[in-house]
Amino acid sequence: MSKESNRLVVITGASSGIGREMAVKFSRAGYPLLLIGRRVELMEELDLPNTMVRGVDVRDHEAFAKAIAEAEAEFGPTDLLINNAGKMLLGDIASQDSAEIQEMLDINLMGMINGIQAVLSGMKKRNHGTIINVASTAGIKTYANHAAYSATKFGVRGMTHTIREEVAENDVRVLLLSPGAVETELLEHTTDEKIKDDYKEWKKSIGEVLSAKEVADAVLFMYRMPQSVSIREVVMSATKQDN
Ligand code: NDP
Repeated sequence: MSKESNRLVVITGASSGIGREMAVKFSRAGYPLLLIGRRVELMEELDLPNTMVRGVDVRDHEAFAKAIAEAEAEFGPTDLLINNAGKMLLGDIASQDSAEIQEMLDINLMGMINGIQAVLSGMKKRNHGTIINVASTAGIKTYANHAAYSATKFGVRGMTHTIREEVAENDVRVLLLSPGAVETELLEHTTDEKIKDDYKEWKKSIGEVLSAKEVADAVLFMYRMPQSVSIREVVMSATKQDN
């Protein structure tokens, strides 16, 4: 456990679910934080020490970079970026509104690329830093009604491993977290009520899914391994999730 706890950690999608739990966990471990999301009040109510909160849409390249620059001016360079913000709008690809598909591509893929572009050059120059991208088991295998979401998560996975190889010689780690189902508000944004109900039934049938806290534990573990150790990808799910 060699990661110094005075180094800046940037977490996107920190207003709910996995991001919120990571914010609490990393703060308790002593790290200064930049929390990014659109619902500022939910991040502010956490009331964490040494924490800057910015209401930024990750699709906004300039605003994302500006928030990181402001946090770095206060806390020093970003040592860890956790690209966690994401949207899951399940649907039948034959008829799903293309605006929903575009929204997922823009948030889940371009949002991540915006974050990476804001920090990667600095990390390469310093020969130090870590990026953890949150994908999904839907970025490894297929599930019904997940076509567009899966396209974004397979994309995140391909991009992550590509960049990992590109910056390995700079001692920069680019890691992937691929969780199965986690109990958060993610599903609630899906607009197709039948698909939503079926997903809830499936969750009930396996008894329990991961908690956001359990996922946050895994991320802290990945980061706190020595810089010379790259946990390239963690795939985790509830034990009873067999798909
Ligand atoms: P939540 O819906 O609880 O959290 C999503 C977070 O992303 C929120 O904080 C939301 O904040 C933020 N977000 C969404 N759109 C934007 C945007 N345009 N700009 C900035 N922030 C945004 O879901 P989870 O915690 O479950 O999801 C976190 C990640 O984990 C996602 O990438 C998801 O795909 C992935 N994942 C989740 C699984 C699950 O079963 N829950 C399984 C596998 C992966 P705000 O609305 O305030 O902007």
